[in-house]
Amino acid sequence: MFVSKALGVNEENHLTIGGMDCVELAKEYGTPLYVFDENEIRGNMRIYADNLKKHYGDNGLILYASKAFCCKKMYKIAKEEGLGIDVVSGGELYTAVSSGFPTEKIYFHGNNKTKDELILALNSGVGRIVVDNSFELNMLNDLAGEMGKKADILFRIKPGVDAHTHDFIKTGQIDSKFGVALENGEATEIIEEATKLSNVNLVGFHCHIGSQIFDLEPFLSTAEVMMGFIKEVKEKFGITISELNLGGGFGVRYVESDDPISYDKYMEAVSRKIHELSKKHNLPLPKILMEPGRSIVASAGITLYTVGNIKEIKDVRTYLSVDGGMGDNPRYILYNAEYDFEIANKAGDKKSETVTVAGKCCESGDLLGENVPLQKAQPGDILAVLTTGAYNYSMASNYNRIPKPAAIFVKDGTSKVVIKRETYADIMKNDA
Ligand SMILES: *Cc1c(COP(=O)(O)O)cnc(C)c1O
Repeated sequence: MFVSKALGVNEENHLTIGGMDCVELAKEYGTPLYVFDENEIRGNMRIYADNLKKHYGDNGLILYASKAFCCKKMYKIAKEEGLGIDVVSGGELYTAVSSGFPTEKIYFHGNNKTKDELILALNSGVGRIVVDNSFELNMLNDLAGEMGKKADILFRIKPGVDAHTHDFIKTGQIDSKFGVALENGEATEIIEEATKLSNVNLVGFHCHIGSQIFDLEPFLSTAEVMMGFIKEVKEKFGITISELNLGGGFGVRYVESDDPISYDKYMEAVSRKIHELSKKHNLPLPKILMEPGRSIVASAGITLYTVGNIKEIKDVRTYLSVDGGMGDNPRYILYNAEYDFEIANKAGDKKSETVTVAGKCCESGDLLGENVPLQKAQPGDILAVLTTGAYNYSMASNYNRIPKPAAIFVKDGTSKVVIKRETYADIMKNDA
């Protein structure tokens, strides 16, 4: 009935997550509130890790792409589940290191890493630095030399595959700010450059073609292109590439009509493809890495709001306003992202109304959905936006100096705060 299996309805007609009553959670912790089902997160991680192991064996690792939802608790869970992580900034790296994450399983991405970030990465002993460009390569080589270290690196390659997704979240084509392209020779040039540097050690290649991808085919084409390139590099430079990081981007179901392929199918098909290609090209099987972010956390999270004023504009539309908005969920204003909505205290009722859900920011575009079906609502009701576990908290801002909501985890009948609600004083604390 719901887009996520973490959700249900109880005998009081209230929405539940992980078996817990959302109306009670809203009462206890206040709104807006991010709520995550921990078992759903762990279950999603296991689908990837177990199936990669089943189809590819031990020479693979799932990295949780932590930009989807980053906090200490998430890193602890990823560690407990035996995953690695990818980070894309000093802030994510700092959080991971502070939470006790094993640094050798950290992959550091980014198209414009700063000198300070590279120093932090080298000092904390991250497993791999995924080098994006020649400027970074040389900066890293110099820093590693000064620090008496040798950095294990991957190059970020643009494989030139079209991922059939939103333009803002496509990253594999030549016109992208990420990485070096194959088709114009940039990738070959940067490898040649690396062979002349003594403080970097080229271990592998990375690619990531985009996000919210539903088809299997772009992933298989990418694997094919990358394995072909590994062969070329072996012939040309005599370098054996031992790691292939195929990125993330696996789609999730936000609304009923979304139909993502199941993740075990991806793992199976990609594993088979790599096996075939390594045989065909006479290459040793590379270590395979995959980086799911959205598909680990999106389905595990919801956001609860309190309904405020409901403005019925005759012959125009009905605006239903909530106590949050683009500050805690910028995905509608960024991508026109679609969501399912429920009145949590009337979750079993029929959706008889059509409303536009508005936030409280001083911005007309501050909406969470337009013309969406919803139960008949009144002020004081609890509105749940589903599938908000990924790219909501992590993209949140303090626009209009609205404090960021708290995030709680529910598990086996208990709930606890993993990120405290911001206060007005928190917002002001850096003002001079
Ligand atoms: C964003 C990103 C991911 C994760 O993408 P999802 O769509 O959340 O799975 C993985 N790798 C890289 C390099 C990314 O930038």
